[in-house]
Amino acid sequence: MDTRLERAVARAKRRFMGDLKSRYGISEDDIRVVVKPRGRGYVSMYRSRSQYDGSPLFWISGSLESAAAELGESLEDVAYDCIAHEYGHAVHEFAAAQDAGLWRLVERGWGYDEEPFAEGFVWLFRGLAGTDDKTRYAGVLRRYRALAFEGEGS
Ligand SMILES: [Zn+2]
Repeated sequence: MDTRLERAVARAKRRFMGDLKSRYGISEDDIRVVVKPRGRGYVSMYRSRSQYDGSPLFWISGSLESAAAELGESLEDVAYDCIAHEYGHAVHEFAAAQDAGLWRLVERGWGYDEEPFAEGFVWLFRGLAGTDDKTRYAGVLRRYRALAFEGEGS
């Protein structure tokens, strides 16, 4: 039987995939989110290059429970933020490796540092990003969708 954390993560994943589709037209077949109850030293992680192997794979550790308690937020909301953040890493990886035009959009908006780009996904998907950031991310995600899901070359 699924644990409380696994159920919260499953709900968060469904919500995130729905938001990705309704807001940015991106239909992921799946995002794999695996709960590692005994994972230590991280709350969530993107397994690099997994997006090229079917669908992106994220790990969420049992530490999410204490993180949620500290933040005073629900497991589902914190899991949602983790998934949004890790999805940002997957998009960043794609941009750096696959398309010079997409990479220029990322670099112009966020520089070389990957973390602010990924963390901005949390604000974006929580609906708290500023207007400029929202516009920049919309541009990135439009091009990402075209390249990764509609097979458009640059
Ligand atoms: Zn990160």
